[in-house]
Amino acid sequence: MLILRPTARRAWLARLRGGPGGRRSSGKHGGGALNTKPTPRVWERKKPRRKEHWRNKVEMSSQRGKIQTVLGLIKPSQLGSTLTHEHLTMSFSCCYYPPPPGQEELSEKSIEMKNLFWLKQNPYSNKENLLLYQETDAVREELLHYKAAGGGAIVENTTTGLMRDMKTLKHLAEETGVHIIAGAGFYVDATHSPETRAMSVEQLTDVIINEVLNGADGTDIKCGVIGEIGCSWPLTESENKVVQATAHAQSQLGCPVIIHPGRHSDSPFQIMRVLQEAGGDVSKTVMSHLDRTIFDEKKLLEFAQLGCYLEYDLFGTEFLLYQMCPDIDMPSDNERILRIRMLINEGYEDKLLIAHDIHTKNRLKKYGGHGYSHILENIVPKMLVRGISQNQINQLLVANPKQWLTFK
Ligand SMILES: [Zn+2]
Repeated sequence: MLILRPTARRAWLARLRGGPGGRRSSGKHGGGALNTKPTPRVWERKKPRRKEHWRNKVEMSSQRGKIQTVLGLIKPSQLGSTLTHEHLTMSFSCCYYPPPPGQEELSEKSIEMKNLFWLKQNPYSNKENLLLYQETDAVREELLHYKAAGGGAIVENTTTGLMRDMKTLKHLAEETGVHIIAGAGFYVDATHSPETRAMSVEQLTDVIINEVLNGADGTDIKCGVIGEIGCSWPLTESENKVVQATAHAQSQLGCPVIIHPGRHSDSPFQIMRVLQEAGGDVSKTVMSHLDRTIFDEKKLLEFAQLGCYLEYDLFGTEFLLYQMCPDIDMPSDNERILRIRMLINEGYEDKLLIAHDIHTKNRLKKYGGHGYSHILENIVPKMLVRGISQNQINQLLVANPKQWLTFK
């Protein structure tokens, strides 16, 4: 298992940058070894098996240059303003946390007005709150509201392990006119079935490729992105295989990838290394949840140099104690905006993506939450106040998602 110690990480980063002088130049992130085409890759990329490469060549020709939604292929120009990390239907029962001592009875209670603040602080301790799949009507209404507010598309990150529901996603797209891009692959180890654990990297690769080329979960509805691929810190054996399979599938399909990292600042580095060594395309990969993962600015800029997309996708999540990892101080939306402004000033404007990662009921407007329009309605105006220009906001919401989601 690969765990990079600080000294090893520094050496590894130095190699990435092509030695001590490899720091990126001119404010744009073209100087990192992973970003420039003529620079050889640091890690050896394994070529896809020739037979598979040939097999997929014909099938892939239709996806190339297009974006694949649950209703079929669209031109990149049709996409519009896009939230790159949301969930519309899923179950998060895998991540139930017992309530704090003395509050046990609240775990079984149905959601009530008087419990909303408690629920905001303890979203994973109420069993009903974890069943987003029960709220299709509310989600449909919110998607219409999102569209009226200027929204065009949503990347639905629910993968195997979270009760992905391709048919519901298709219905929601038909009924609302919002483009929905579904995710292929597997969530974190805790949700891997014995069958998943028993699969080889090759078998996992075939499953993922099939979800993109032919359809997922026994339907003919196709995924347009791989992920969110669930990772823990450190990567478990099964997750390591899934990340390798993701890289193999991506190298054959030329498709976008999105990763959910473990809750440790070294986790994104570890995952990108495994992905890259297995032949993945870092420049077409999103690292999610950076808001709760890398706090140190220097380390964040080191990570940004790897050349992947940097996603701040927990907008709307503000609480005191993060149940998943009590040692993490969840940032506020104001702090997220300042982080994004810093990264724009450092030249990463064309690598930033934003979203809410709605995955529990209390985030919906129906339950007093912010809903899918929070970024368009509240965050964008505050970004303008903080000196992020409308052009830069358009880059984050329109241009970057379009670039990422288009098949190579
Ligand atoms: Zn998610």
